Amino acid sequence: MQGSIIFYKQIIKLFVLKGIMQNNFYTLEKLPYNYSDLEPFISKEQLTIHYEKHHSSYVNNANEILKKGQFGDSKKLSFNIGGHKLHSLFWKNMISPQKQKIPDEIIKILENEFSSFEKFKEEFLNLALLTEGSSWVALVFDKDIKKLLLMQIEKHNLNIYPEFNILLVLDLWEHAYYIDYKNEKKKFVEAFFNVINFEEVLKRYKKLA
Ligand code: FE
Repeated sequence: MQGSIIFYKQIIKLFVLKGIMQNNFYTLEKLPYNYSDLEPFISKEQLTIHYEKHHSSYVNNANEILKKGQFGDSKKLSFNIGGHKLHSLFWKNMISPQKQKIPDEIIKILENEFSSFEKFKEEFLNLALLTEGSSWVALVFDKDIKKLLLMQIEKHNLNIYPEFNILLVLDLWEHAYYIDYKNEKKKFVEAFFNVINFEEVLKRYKKLA
C-alpha cells in the first residue's frame, strides 16, 4: 500500500516536472509600458499594485492548482485563469496618453456598429456603470454574425460567450481604480478612454474580420 502511494507520488512529480520543463504554466508577461506611463489617468501606484499584487496572484494561483492537479476545483481554476487572461488583454489595450492614436479605420468600424464613435463611448460607459461589484466590460466580435457587441463579464469567468473574441476590455473591479478614483467609477471609465490603445483594438479586429 505504502509502496503504491510512493509510486503514484513519483508519477505526479514526473508530470509536474514535465510541465515545468515544457513550461506548461502561465507566466506574468511584462507590461508593454512603464508603471508611470499611463499617468495622469492611472497612477504609478495604482498600476503597480494592480499588476504586481492582483494579476500576479491569479497567475500563481492558477499554476498552483495545475501543479497539484486539482482539476476538480474547476471553479477556482477558471476564476484564476480567467483573471490572468483578462488582465493580459487589458494591459495591452492601454498605451501612454502621449502615444495614443485613433486610426480612422477603427472609427469607421465603430461607427458602422454604434452609429457614431461618441455613441460607442456612451454605450461602453453606460454598460460599465451598470456592472455591479467585481466585473469587466468588453467590446467583442462574433465572427459568425460579423458583429461587434458589448459584453459584461462577472468576476473573471462568468457570462463569457464562447468564441467571442475580445477586442477591448476594461477591468471594473475596485482594485483597478480605488487608489486613484475611490468610489468614482464613472471618472475612471472616462479616464480609461484617454489611454485606450485603439491601434491594438484594430489589430485584433483585423485578425478576425
Ligand atoms: Fe484587476
